[in-house]
Amino acid sequence: MRILFFGPNGSGKGTQGAKVKEKYKIPHIESGVIFRDNISKGTELGAKAKSFIDKGDLVPDEITIPMILDRLKEADCKEGWLLDGFPRNKTQAIKLDEALNAANMKLDVVIELILDREIAKNRIMGRRVCVNDSNHPNNIFIDAIKPNGDKCRVCGGELKARSDDQDEDAINKRHSIYYDADTGTLAASYYFRDKAKADKGIRYITLDGKPGVGEVKAELMKKLG
Ligand code: AMP
Repeated sequence: MRILFFGPNGSGKGTQGAKVKEKYKIPHIESGVIFRDNISKGTELGAKAKSFIDKGDLVPDEITIPMILDRLKEADCKEGWLLDGFPRNKTQAIKLDEALNAANMKLDVVIELILDREIAKNRIMGRRVCVNDSNHPNNIFIDAIKPNGDKCRVCGGELKARSDDQDEDAINKRHSIYYDADTGTLAASYYFRDKAKADKGIRYITLDGKPGVGEVKAELMKKLG
């Protein structure tokens, strides 16, 4: 099962992505997590990416595209994957499409989680990241995933706020990239929506991100079947 998951930062994409990963037992590949891991380990890739991430800019395609396409060649991706945070612009979408075609691999599902920009922005500011597992969702503004005191609600681990989540300029920049339907992330999403129209083997699922975590999950699971 090969799945692409689109949604603005703060839409609950990571939370729902964790459910999809569980359902299909496939690796959840999050470009942002790969970058943050590299930054915390002090790698060369992390050093290159950090200044872009802190400002809310995209890490250049020359760095990001090979990083993800190489990741998809690893052994755990044989039976499929859930890609989250990539592609983030139309160029990345085209390169991914070309790489899949070249490897004779087909996409199965594309999910677009839809949420207004203002709501997404508020949710971002409340988001907290568990140091033990990026798939442990915590948000101080969302009842269903409120932290347990100041600790992770899933494992009791330490929680941190991402610096780019507390910087309004960085949030606005990330959203401007996401909601750009000409060359940005929505353009990437619509690129695959058009492919799905022409190819009945690909399902394009849209989801309303406004309801609570449980409702969105139920709707997602119903649509996935
Ligand atoms: P995220 O965790 O998805 O919000 O990503 C955090 C940051 O990592 C983004 O604001 C970008 O700076 C960088 N990033 C993540 N995915 C990509 C991508 N596909 N292309 C370029 N930069 C990315």
